[in-house]
Amino acid sequence: MGISRRDIFKLAGIGAAIGISQFPSLAFSAKTTNRLLPPSKGKRIVIVGGGWAGVTAAKYLKREIPDVDVVLIEQRKMFMSCPISNVWLGGLVEFDFLIHDFLTPAAKYGYTFINATVTGIDRDKRRVYTEEGYVEYDYLVLAPGIRYNYDAWFDGDKDMARYTQTHYPSAFIPGSEHLRLKKKVDNFEGGTFVLVVPPPPHRCPPAPYERAAMIAHVFRQNEVKGKLIILDPKSKIAPKGPGFRMAYEQLYLDIVEYVPNAKIKEVDPVKKVIKTTAGDFKFDDANLNPPHQAADIAWKAGLVNPKTGWCDVDPVTLQSKVDPRIFIAGDANSVKGFPKSGDMANNQTKYMLVRALKAMIQGKDPLDYIKAPTNTCYSMVNGEPKEAIVINVIYDIDKQKRKPVKKKVNVENERSSRLARATFEWAKAMYRDMFS
Ligand SMILES: Cc1cc2nc3c(=O)[nH]c(=O)nc-3n(C[C@H](O)[C@H](O)[C@H](O)COP(=O)(O)OP(=O)(O)OC[C@H]3O[C@@H](n4cnc5c(N)ncnc54)[C@H](O)[C@@H]3O)c2cc1C
Repeated sequence: MGISRRDIFKLAGIGAAIGISQFPSLAFSAKTTNRLLPPSKGKRIVIVGGGWAGVTAAKYLKREIPDVDVVLIEQRKMFMSCPISNVWLGGLVEFDFLIHDFLTPAAKYGYTFINATVTGIDRDKRRVYTEEGYVEYDYLVLAPGIRYNYDAWFDGDKDMARYTQTHYPSAFIPGSEHLRLKKKVDNFEGGTFVLVVPPPPHRCPPAPYERAAMIAHVFRQNEVKGKLIILDPKSKIAPKGPGFRMAYEQLYLDIVEYVPNAKIKEVDPVKKVIKTTAGDFKFDDANLNPPHQAADIAWKAGLVNPKTGWCDVDPVTLQSKVDPRIFIAGDANSVKGFPKSGDMANNQTKYMLVRALKAMIQGKDPLDYIKAPTNTCYSMVNGEPKEAIVINVIYDIDKQKRKPVKKKVNVENERSSRLARATFEWAKAMYRDMFS
């Protein structure tokens, strides 16, 4: 049973009527009529995106509800971790540490892994389309992460966006951008290097500050006469502000200059000038980080609130407010008080989404099964010796108000080698949880 020509025209018509190309590949690709998997005997949950949230969802859904057919669709050939990528940028760990394969957990836990890009989602027919064909679902977990919103800087000028991404890559989405950024940092010969902090909410709030510390560490190691200017739209560093400030002042005073209240007014990557509310800055090289939004596929599926750029969800089940068959996991959702972190993506998926979905399938009340997550985030601030700081937040679920609330916040701003060791132990434990 494939999609008929009439269906294709109907879908194309809907797309045209609402003014967007919601199913861009459908009209052109005969392969979209292929059913990639035979119909499932029981229920099928399809997961789109094999990052921190998606890989966790696949393992725990299959483990918790073994009779459900679980399918993970991911576009990348292999997993590369953003967490610890700053530590790698600082030269403190090998690249291998960040890389994992998708096949080991799929084989071990018994879910199906499909290496493909999802090009469209037909929510009425409950189908996920790839260039090779489609997969039907009973429930969909959308875990696609983020996209860069260069439009906020360049007002839709795609050439300018591409130029900026090529010459001054952000490296907040894993891949080539990280490799290029490392080359830039390692080969920087001196002058002014600017790091732009994206406006909140963005992926990993402490990541820009940790990255600054690691870049400063490399400059110091390489005896580069360089200045690293951090342009922050916020009025102060957060989270772990005192810990980062102490590191900058005590370790990198001659290198790091922190500029608060620097909201971007204009970016000219060709003339290498950034105009902000805190003044204008010229740079020799830069890490230019535009604002973040939910990834493309969430927009194509009509699941994003255009006012915020993120997917609205029920804050305890992570069920989409647009479509109850769809759950949004990880950075793409917008739960107030949850940081967009790998640790949180893993925890919220395991303790909230998976438990809620299992309860729903079994006809039970999800609120009776959901557990509150925690979020732990280490930041490496020194390379010689390795020293880190940490924040840990424990949440509670307010069942009456149906929302998570912060119960306890522990911050260790005093950098230490003990916390540096704990950083690696945390990462290994997370990778073990998701990949072995
Ligand atoms: C430099 C840096 C340092 C960080 N450090 C930490 C840290 O120390 N601790 C921490 O907890 N967090 C950290 N983070 C944050 C963490 O990386 C993210 O919060 C986490 O990756 C979010 O998980 P996710 O599953 O939502 O998104 P992702 O991990 O980005 O996964 C999304 C996946 O979806 C796939 N995808 C997207 N669209 C499609 C499509 N159409 N078809 C198929 N596949 C698709 C992508 O290829 C990707 O694999 C850091 C981030 C950065 C950038």
